[in-house]
Amino acid sequence: MTNKEESAELVSKYVHVFSCPLCNSQMKVANLKSLVCINNHTFDFAKQGYINMMTRSTNSHYDKELFKARQKIIIEGDLYALPHEKISEVINEKINASNGEVMILDAGCGEGSHLQRILDEYKNEMVTGVGIDISREGIRMAASNYKKTIWLVGDLANLPLVEQSCHVILNILSPANYMEFKRVLVPEGLIVKVVPRSNYLKELREALFDDTDKRSYKNDETVSLFKRHFHLVEIFNLSYTKELTQTELTKLAQMSPLVWNSKKEHIDQFTNQGLSEITVDLDILVGINVKGDVE
Ligand SMILES: [Zn+2]
Repeated sequence: MTNKEESAELVSKYVHVFSCPLCNSQMKVANLKSLVCINNHTFDFAKQGYINMMTRSTNSHYDKELFKARQKIIIEGDLYALPHEKISEVINEKINASNGEVMILDAGCGEGSHLQRILDEYKNEMVTGVGIDISREGIRMAASNYKKTIWLVGDLANLPLVEQSCHVILNILSPANYMEFKRVLVPEGLIVKVVPRSNYLKELREALFDDTDKRSYKNDETVSLFKRHFHLVEIFNLSYTKELTQTELTKLAQMSPLVWNSKKEHIDQFTNQGLSEITVDLDILVGINVKGDVE
């Protein structure tokens, strides 16, 4: 079987969770080739096995090099091992996967490595991962690297999924659309959002920016917005450093949108320093989808 047919089989198994992004109607898999709604809106499986369900054109700054660098940092550099472990622990604790299938959606998954690492850590046959991102480049790479997970190019503001189809939503260092997240989460479903804290990648920001404002993050607004939509049950603060090699520092700079507005000499100075400690400083927000407003 080709990659395309294998993904089509996987999607067939979960086709009840799909909803047409154009008319919101039910969908089915046709000839192991495409996902088609009752009004005949058709979305084909790509060769790598993903489905492009975007209904508008977009311009993404995120190119192949950025995603390659990101994958290297996440998988080979293992820079996020602690958050991956923590998230998998939280899912394990809050979600009972013995009662049937569990869908974990990674909203804004990029090239899919965070989701894949968490699924590998979690190791549960009853769990299916769905990764969605607006970037076709990212999803194409995810589908080429990681089988057994459903990969979709799509819009967070118009998720191609039916109401109450997901048990867990992950939203890792990525923008959110809480209205949509609430719609597709089951009641009491879990949302895990990872946000930077003030010292996140501070060595990189200090090298890139002279302006002290840009040298640290503030996440209070993000946290309070989250609390307006979900019942916040826990916040885990993970703060640690990891030593990166010169090659890894280059990858780290490549994967970061921070460098888009930076001077080349600043970037070079950062990547040419040899071994360096890099700070990861994150909050993991754990929320529950309750009905109505929570605050
Ligand atoms: Zn349709």
